[in-house]
Amino acid sequence: MAGNTIWTIKKLITWTTHYFQQHGLESPRLDAELLLAHVLHKSRIYLYTDFDEIVEPSELARYREYIKKRVSGISTAAIIGEKEFMGLTFQVNEHVLIPRPDTETWLEKVIQYHRGEPGLKVADLGTGSGAILLSFLYYCKEDTGVGVDISDDALAVAEENGKKLSLDHRVAWRKGDYLTALEEGEVFDGILTNPPYIPSGDIPGLQKEVQHEPALALDGGKDGLDFYRKLADSAASHLKDGGFLAMEFGIHQADEVRKLFEDSGDYDSFEIIKDYGGIERALYCRKKENE
Ligand code: GLN
Repeated sequence: MAGNTIWTIKKLITWTTHYFQQHGLESPRLDAELLLAHVLHKSRIYLYTDFDEIVEPSELARYREYIKKRVSGISTAAIIGEKEFMGLTFQVNEHVLIPRPDTETWLEKVIQYHRGEPGLKVADLGTGSGAILLSFLYYCKEDTGVGVDISDDALAVAEENGKKLSLDHRVAWRKGDYLTALEEGEVFDGILTNPPYIPSGDIPGLQKEVQHEPALALDGGKDGLDFYRKLADSAASHLKDGGFLAMEFGIHQADEVRKLFEDSGDYDSFEIIKDYGGIERALYCRKKENE
């Protein structure tokens, strides 16, 4: 970005897209646009309708800072502090996992399955930004939920998101360690969870953007399956008969995760759900009805 060029929105986006491309970013144009829209306090559409507007020096300086951060490996969502997920906008920061499009694929299905059953009470374990639970409650308008997280900082983000989406009257946030945060005998119609599932040893090799996310939300223990073992052990005691369990898992974990729940003997109606990339990404099953 040379000193005395006049930078219009159009020129700036073209330059930045090219720069991001050179740095090997996956979605260079989208990132360039989202960051500039944030600097200008405008929507992305505005960038298109006002392509020829000249960007002020102070805005240019802020944009330059964002560009530096982005190429240093901080995700666009973390820089601008928000992320679109399930058609909604969520606040995010360094204390929460940034919601992923991969999570949308299974969550959409679960919502489709249960939308017609008003009055359900669901739990989201390891809720982070609250994106999964709040999306569920947003689309299933008469349901209520409990969001559990071990991190106070994450719960503060979730609470903020609940308020912003005007869902705070249907959600309760609870601090605690995963399933142990649920009370004895407390049962739900469904449990949703995107637990940490990266094998500890793989974390140092993850892409830079992910390294900036909380290890607490990623580290699934030696083989990445610690949380599925906990779920297979005791999630059933917190589900009504016929209640559903929907959980995300990592690449190549489908068979082992499914086996854990089949072996428990507590569930049926197993379904593996793939993500946008065709990768097996989530397991849906239901607690057996009492015969
Ligand atoms: N999907 C995330 C990743 O691959 C991991 C999320 C998780 O551990 N639940 O980076």
